[in-house]
Amino acid sequence: MSAVPLDIQNVKRTGKASGPDHNRSDEMTAEGKAMDQNLRKIMDKRIEKTIENLKKNRMEAYYAPTKAEVVSLVDQLCRPGETVAAGGSMTLFEAGVIDHLNSGKYHHLDRYAKNADVQRVMREAFFADTYFTSTNALTEEGELYNVDGNGNRVAAMLFGPKQVIVVAGYNKIVADGEEAVRRVEKVAAPANAVRLGLPAPCATVGECVHCRSDGRICCDYVRMGMQRTPGRVKVIIVGETLGY
Ligand code: SF4
Repeated sequence: MSAVPLDIQNVKRTGKASGPDHNRSDEMTAEGKAMDQNLRKIMDKRIEKTIENLKKNRMEAYYAPTKAEVVSLVDQLCRPGETVAAGGSMTLFEAGVIDHLNSGKYHHLDRYAKNADVQRVMREAFFADTYFTSTNALTEEGELYNVDGNGNRVAAMLFGPKQVIVVAGYNKIVADGEEAVRRVEKVAAPANAVRLGLPAPCATVGECVHCRSDGRICCDYVRMGMQRTPGRVKVIIVGETLGY
């Protein structure tokens, strides 16, 4: 995979649909495969549109058919030995990025390290060469929408690190800003509140109730559109479901 933004039409798919279920009839298996292909085709169109609009907004866009290909793409975008940091993200764990940052190839400001001074690490992250994160939503209009409790992640996405690499499963793609807000309120925020064990009502109700609780996970709302510095933000869209 080259280290240039990928054109989705030229991407050779390496991800394969799950193999045939031999307990089912051939007819059903064929039908299932056709449905998968149809859905895949629609998703490819959405990914293609999103990539085009990210580029218009001066963000570089890459496509990784599977999460297994993310790490090699990361290696093409970062120099060995450079300083890297990461925002809280299930996607980065699932794609193997956090483990890779700890491999010794990079100087990782690791907020998850034993005895780490997390507040200090979050501040030092502003001077990193590369900041890794996912996104709460990625619109087909080429915008990133993120909501933070601390604000450290969105702050570093906006300013500080020389480059920001955003890894997002295709499940993060939404039509527009309105759908991005809905996605955060219905999926991302409640799921993260559960993951972090926060005493926020959405963790029990299952959706946002616009609380004023001490455990509120949504305090800073950031929508990133056209960028002043071309290519500072790089988005890797993965053709698999990742994170919340
Ligand atoms: S505002 Fe409160 S209820 Fe709504 S998603 Fe955020 S933490 Fe949950």
